[in-house]
Amino acid sequence: MTSSNAEFATRVLDWFDCHGRKDLPWQQAVTPYRVWVSEIMLQQTQVATVIPYFERFMQRFPTLMDLAQAPLDDVLHLWTGLGYYARGRNLHKAARLAVSEYGGALPETVDDLCTLPGIGRSTAGAIRSLGHGLPAAILDGNVKRVLARHEALAGDPAKADVLKQFWAVAEAFTPLQRTDNYNQAMMDLGATLCTRSKPACAICPLQDSCKGLHSGNPTQFPQKKRKSAVPEKSVRFLIRLNEQGQVWLEQRPAVGIWGGLWGFPEQTLDAPLANAVEQWPAFWHVFSHFRLHIHPAIERVSQDKTPVVNEASGQWVTLAPPPAALPALGLPTPVQQLLQRLQAQLESEK
Ligand code: SF4
Repeated sequence: MTSSNAEFATRVLDWFDCHGRKDLPWQQAVTPYRVWVSEIMLQQTQVATVIPYFERFMQRFPTLMDLAQAPLDDVLHLWTGLGYYARGRNLHKAARLAVSEYGGALPETVDDLCTLPGIGRSTAGAIRSLGHGLPAAILDGNVKRVLARHEALAGDPAKADVLKQFWAVAEAFTPLQRTDNYNQAMMDLGATLCTRSKPACAICPLQDSCKGLHSGNPTQFPQKKRKSAVPEKSVRFLIRLNEQGQVWLEQRPAVGIWGGLWGFPEQTLDAPLANAVEQWPAFWHVFSHFRLHIHPAIERVSQDKTPVVNEASGQWVTLAPPPAALPALGLPTPVQQLLQRLQAQLESEK
């Protein structure tokens, strides 16, 4: 490490001692398992949103073994509303692999950690440093932004050769001592000071050496992703209700959108609708790569006459009146919202 790299780490660590976050739930009773779960939940999701999910998850699955032994439905149920459900599926799969391949513990090396589904190089670095207390670099979105600005790194980090350069810088700055505090501090710096559009350079501990700041326009780094037009799709959700006020839910295939979660049967909008169907207003649900226009339709059927297309993976589910909880299944957010509306409607019809 050069003296200027050591100076960089010292400034970051001094800032951490005064301003770094130390009271987050995953920073208490630290284990590699708790760090791993928090890192996965924090991908694409804000800290404030993650906290209650993390706490419920730890209550239900306090150890990796508890997670590995649980049915996938229980895991997806606790993920309901957090989005990007592949994260929950991978967490469950990886816990089982950690039991079969690594004796029930998360491995210590970045290479071994990367063999587990859902764990990339940066998450592996976080588990090794924050969870095991061993040195490893990380490069999540926040760290990437701080380094890109500090070093005035041009180029699109989505490209392999540019990303390689970012990793080289991350490795060079990461100290061998107090790596856990340093990595936490870098994430905090990116989240609280070196923010996407309004970096607070005036109070940043790196202002003296920051090449991005000295260029006069730090927010030009890192290079922005080019935005492409978001495709749109439409679908009808067929909400089948029987005479007992139960609703028909089907489990979706394991792969694809909302894989393994429970939802309503779907139709294209040109499929014929029975006369007695009540249509609710359509609404948009936005994914990272497309927008779905959802048209809910309520069909009241008698249980024995239900044209059950997919009986093996479906079930009639009883809805208790509000404010009772929804069934303990993994539910995509729009399905959850429609079931809540249905709960209220059924209650008002009584
Ligand atoms: S000086 Fe400004 S641009 Fe540079 S790292 Fe600090 S907050 Fe980011």
